[in-house]
Amino acid sequence: MTDVLVIGGGPAGTPLAMALAQAGRKVTLVEAGPGLGGTCLFEGCIPSKIFRETARRLRELRAADTFGLCLPTQDAKVNWSAVLARKRAILKRRGETALARAGRIPTLEVVKGHARLLSPRSAEITLPNDQRRTISFEQAVIATGSIPVRPPIPGVDHARVLDSEDILDIGEIPQRLVIIGGGPIGVELGQVFRTLGSEVALLEAAPHILGPVDPELAQILTDRMQNDGIEITTGCQIKAIVNTGGDGVYVEYTASARGERRRFADTVLLVTGRRPRVEGLGLEQTGVTHGPHGIEVNAELETAEPGIFAVGDVIGQPMFAHWATAQGLALARHMRGLPSQFPLAEHNSAVIFSEPEIGMAGLTEAQARERGIAVGIARYDFAQDARAQIAAHDDGMLKIVYDKESRRVVGVHALVEGAGEIMGEAALLVRAGIPIEALANSIHPHPTLTESFGLAARMALASDPNH
Ligand SMILES: Cc1cc2nc3c(=O)[nH]c(=O)nc-3n(C[C@H](O)[C@H](O)[C@H](O)COP(=O)(O)OP(=O)(O)OC[C@H]3O[C@@H](n4cnc5c(N)ncnc54)[C@H](O)[C@@H]3O)c2cc1C
Repeated sequence: MTDVLVIGGGPAGTPLAMALAQAGRKVTLVEAGPGLGGTCLFEGCIPSKIFRETARRLRELRAADTFGLCLPTQDAKVNWSAVLARKRAILKRRGETALARAGRIPTLEVVKGHARLLSPRSAEITLPNDQRRTISFEQAVIATGSIPVRPPIPGVDHARVLDSEDILDIGEIPQRLVIIGGGPIGVELGQVFRTLGSEVALLEAAPHILGPVDPELAQILTDRMQNDGIEITTGCQIKAIVNTGGDGVYVEYTASARGERRRFADTVLLVTGRRPRVEGLGLEQTGVTHGPHGIEVNAELETAEPGIFAVGDVIGQPMFAHWATAQGLALARHMRGLPSQFPLAEHNSAVIFSEPEIGMAGLTEAQARERGIAVGIARYDFAQDARAQIAAHDDGMLKIVYDKESRRVVGVHALVEGAGEIMGEAALLVRAGIPIEALANSIHPHPTLTESFGLAARMALASDPNH
């Protein structure tokens, strides 16, 4: 018997289990994968950023002459097996650290295995040696994450068609890579492999890539990717993936106004989205319900079965590691009977690790207008920015969205290399609803990218009649 059974040791389940156990609850955390960390550590955020770091450094190296450095950069080569070895070492270290931290909490038991609910108060765990253990609990939390969507395209099961998990283990850099899906993962990995030498074509069904991103920023990035040699086709419908019988496949598609086309690839990366992982959990033995967006929960993340909660990717969008953790920690407080503030989507922040990065916090201009907010925009062009010029990363812009009536900042959107590092301040501005005047009056250090926040606010206020 345990107080709380947590199924899934990713960014949602692990901090939640630790917080509850640290507060004295007896917690059993069951994880089927290689360690604690979930998709984020083993198949997502961390390995993709490790690849990205290699590509970023190669790109910087190639630009050495910009900084007055004379290096034989044409000799720079990628040792892909060293990149993979570095990735494995970082993942192993992080996985072990998480397990060691969990091991120091006396009331937390971590079990490696696959959990399946048998009833609203009991579950069966299949251990790695196929032995089974039955456990009863007072409360349970389902934090089983999400899996890649595989659309029903003829030929999609061909061995050369990889999903985001497969490509993070790819044995060599593809020569001709076709990416189906222009979301964050497709864009990030497309740029990485382009920098590492692949010929990259990106096919997107929507009229533009990176749907939820501010369209101005998405357009700047699209231009940049095309300048870097990535062929982007939007408005595509994929018809089939056809085996050539040789060393690749043809991706057949139609693109508006261009008719039927085909594109040869030795590797196809299929990144058309992720869906909540609800299969094999025994939900039918309980009152837990689920729909197309995942497990259905109320505002306190409780499912239709009292005492069983769900958190993270398994309850649908937004699917981010930091969001899953924020939800998990809020739920832990709630389950302890403490007042808890569950995160709100309009306070979320995110980074697309493109080149340059896109950072987002709060509402876009369009979302703010949809909510009836009297929108004010503070803009800043990084072409005029000291730090961006010094770093030769000056092709970006910042947009701060504020409410002209309440004066509060409701959104921050930046495209610049380093945007990820300034999003912490942006998230705080939005979460605390800082007035645009307070931002204009705050003293940011010079020369830094974060200085752009104060400069944008001051320039906007100079032409704001309400100021
Ligand atoms: C390529 C890629 C890049 C990404 N990059 C970023 C990024 O840069 N930043 C960001 O914020 N997010 C990123 N994400 C998204 C992020 O990884 C997820 O949002 C996050 O991992 C969700 O956390 P979670 O705990 O809800 O689920 P998961 O991390 O998926 O964890 C669920 C865990 O449950 C386990 N599990 C499932 N079923 C069972 C069962 N029956 N019994 C026991 N265990 C089970 C799984 O093994 C898994 O470890 C990326 C995702 C991908 C695929």
